[in-house]
Amino acid sequence: MAADRRIVIENCAIATVDGHDTEYACGHLVLAGNRIESLGAGSAPEGLENVVRRIDASGHLVTPGLINTHHHFYQWITRGLATDHNLFNWLVTLYPTWARIDEPMVRAAAQGSLAMMARGGVTTAMDHHYVFPQGSGDLSGAIIGAARDMGVRFTLARGSMDRSEKDGGLPPDFAVETLDGALAATEETVRQHHDASFDAMTQVAVAPCSPFSVSTELLRDGAQLARRLGVRLHTHGSETVEEEKFCHELFGMGPTDYFESTGWLGEDVWMAHCVHMNDSDIAAFARSRTGVAHCPSSNARLAAGIARVPDMLAAGVPVGLGVDGTASNESGELHTELRNALLINRLGAHREAALNARQALRLGTYGGAQVLGRAAETGSLEPGKLADLVLWKLDTLAHASIADPVTALVFGAAAPVTASFVDGRQIVEDGRLLTADEDAIARATRDEAQRLARIAAQA
Ligand SMILES: [Zn+2]
Repeated sequence: MAADRRIVIENCAIATVDGHDTEYACGHLVLAGNRIESLGAGSAPEGLENVVRRIDASGHLVTPGLINTHHHFYQWITRGLATDHNLFNWLVTLYPTWARIDEPMVRAAAQGSLAMMARGGVTTAMDHHYVFPQGSGDLSGAIIGAARDMGVRFTLARGSMDRSEKDGGLPPDFAVETLDGALAATEETVRQHHDASFDAMTQVAVAPCSPFSVSTELLRDGAQLARRLGVRLHTHGSETVEEEKFCHELFGMGPTDYFESTGWLGEDVWMAHCVHMNDSDIAAFARSRTGVAHCPSSNARLAAGIARVPDMLAAGVPVGLGVDGTASNESGELHTELRNALLINRLGAHREAALNARQALRLGTYGGAQVLGRAAETGSLEPGKLADLVLWKLDTLAHASIADPVTALVFGAAAPVTASFVDGRQIVEDGRLLTADEDAIARATRDEAQRLARIAAQA
């Protein structure tokens, strides 16, 4: 779309999630090309030129697009397995199946994962992919291609594992890469796909999997690689008590100290989970501006515990929301995680003061942009930022009688998405994807899940 072609959205409630939590009970937005040109109370200004579309958004709340900060797309085809396990038992049960994935399976799983999130209001997705079986094809290319085709802004966290059972790690020997192989492939992926520009649709991060599946050298060298290439760092941290015990036994220190010793605290780093953090761990994250991807449903599914999100926010830690892989969160939706984050944190130490609806919305939008390093570009509705936004329909049975639109979105049932825009382009209309065929994706993911199950059973 040429930069001067405008779309006007009017008569809607707007939650900007800007620095002042500015909201309009009835307002307008003007999109110009892939940017938000202006927004405010009341109707759009008269006399705008080149308006190609005018949307009457009565009955809607417009928010920034949701931003997912932790996921494993390939798990879309291993949902519903090991449903009553803790993290380590779940991993050990699933590794042998995961080690059989190939390019068609990963492509279908990525399409399924992206479609589920996109039609629920996600405009920026990420995939932490760390299983690269030998001879499995161009998995990174397949994932990035799926995101590009769907029109979703995307960060690929190129993962890796090199600490298998023979080195005291958790994954089986056949599921890992070598140290040098993982580093070289990660560098190649960054060079091939990372786009550093303001409106980049694809970025790449360096993402060794977790302390119990990668060597100390891979963490240390991975951090150096990311800083040499100018990209971000991502991993899992402090997810379970078992991980904490593992770190104390192998390294003589807890996870946060171990990460610090390997160069893994910093404003260019974000970590998934961070459930088992003491006061000094949280202070270290705040001091270093290390980000957190909070994954409430996955943490509940695997009985990992409740992350101390209110304490992190009070300390100034950047926090976003994550679906996590769908083998530990079968729903694969992010808009329902706003509600789950709010409710689960209220079961923690801060009770009803833990999180409110605005804070939950901020986690899923601006907080996500912060941890992905894209807060200047997306995550809030402000003039000059990218046109990544969602129109939530709140005037039907599920929401019409709820007092306030942001409360309706967060506390209420999963709200229908009337329209979702990424980079100024509409990708969802009335809850259906405009950029992909959901039914075809459903069939392909079922077929690939069955093919993987057959191959795993023969192994
Ligand atoms: Zn994860």
